[in-house]
Amino acid sequence: MEKHILSKSTFIKGLQCNKALYFHKHRKDLRDDLDASKEAIFAQGTSVGELACELFPGGVDCTPESYFDFQKAVIRTQEEIEKGTKVIYEAAFQFNGVLAALDILVNHDGGWRAYEVKSSTKVSETYELDASIQYYCITNSGIDLKDISIVHINNQYVKNGPIDVHQLFTIESVLERVQNHLAKIPNQVNHLKKILKQDKEPEVAIGKHCKSPYQCDFSGHCWKHIPEYSIFNIARLSSKKKYELLENNGFNFQDIPNNFSLNEKQWMQVKSELNNESFIDKEAVQKFVGELNYPIYHLDFETFSSAVPVFDGSRPYQHLVFQYSLHIENNDGQLDHREYLAEVNGEDPRVKFIEQMIYDCGESGDVLVYNIGFERGKLFDLIEFSPKHKLPILNIINRLKDLMVPFRDRVYYTPSMQGSYSIKKVLPAMVPELSYKDLNIKEGGTASNTFSQMVQGNFEGDALKTRKDLLAYCEMDTFAMVKILEVLRRV
Ligand code: SF4
Repeated sequence: MEKHILSKSTFIKGLQCNKALYFHKHRKDLRDDLDASKEAIFAQGTSVGELACELFPGGVDCTPESYFDFQKAVIRTQEEIEKGTKVIYEAAFQFNGVLAALDILVNHDGGWRAYEVKSSTKVSETYELDASIQYYCITNSGIDLKDISIVHINNQYVKNGPIDVHQLFTIESVLERVQNHLAKIPNQVNHLKKILKQDKEPEVAIGKHCKSPYQCDFSGHCWKHIPEYSIFNIARLSSKKKYELLENNGFNFQDIPNNFSLNEKQWMQVKSELNNESFIDKEAVQKFVGELNYPIYHLDFETFSSAVPVFDGSRPYQHLVFQYSLHIENNDGQLDHREYLAEVNGEDPRVKFIEQMIYDCGESGDVLVYNIGFERGKLFDLIEFSPKHKLPILNIINRLKDLMVPFRDRVYYTPSMQGSYSIKKVLPAMVPELSYKDLNIKEGGTASNTFSQMVQGNFEGDALKTRKDLLAYCEMDTFAMVKILEVLRRV
């Protein structure tokens, strides 16, 4: 059997961008490095796929021994079908040079049914396209497919005891939607094959398609002429307007025409950059600082989530708190630090978190957070998890104040904030001597993925050292808040 020209994933890539498909085949050297968060997503997809097989147990696995041996998997799949095997995992089909592997193929209820597993919580249009190319390859290989479904995560499932796969997964037929895509597939396949045969990459300008439906892994190459700070960083500017500017004027701030439609805050950002000018509304800043009540509890939570819930009483992808840092600032200038990081011992991290947080946060004084919506949401989740702690948690909720407000409302804005009010941009702008760059864990996503791997038992690093790194990262978040507030006080 000849080697395939397109696979399900390169077909989808080619539909997103012809140039990305060409690069994928001929210029792998231009590909961006795989970052840790993408690796974590792939690993999660694999374990969800394995769990979904339990929906149809006792099947035969046709996964090839090597990634380059898919044709063997196609032959093996045919053999299993001919033998009368009822459940096949990683069934592979090839037609017209296109290879499509399918997670689960089952012969039940009077015919063959196809199931593709996704670790997301709903069916997107890309998944419909995915299923369409599978349907095209399977049916043209002579299988009379009665139905094709996406198996996705049911985010309303609440774990209670061992995982119940029938509750965890939702099976949604996409047969009708697949029929709507089918007529276009032969032309699309032929067009993409022609692209691959060209001696030069097709000309495709950068655009919305670089990020949608997936972040393209050749962005580093195609976007290298766009500076790190450009019109693409104008806060809350729609993609439509960004590309309109790019096409008609350019990507630099000085290229923006005076009559271009931007709101007041966006013009503030542009003028700040062009004139290297800061905007500080002293009265508003002084009002914010003056209304704070001591002791001030600078508080920050870290959370983790997983597609398959780990602890009873939690749902798929629910963000569970596992760590906090707390700097307590008294009005005599004294600063205390408290912290909590859950042990990885099978116990739900929320139990001890709640008890220690209530104790550490005392009963009076403002609880200052950065982005109130996040911490408040997690505190309400904790009430739901542990109703007996409702009153003390409500006390903390009622004392919450948000240090992000002066930056979000642009009452304190400097050019180096670059349109962002995230603490990662505000800190270097306000307190340049303090930085995350020397820490081993530098941002919340890494902290979250690391702890998630630890509780799911697939963490491979030095656990003791990593715990220290997690503590150092979270402590920096609240120490940064103390220092930022210090600068605001000096206004
Ligand atoms: S970065 Fe954009 S233009 Fe470049 S290959 Fe990817 S999708 Fe195409």
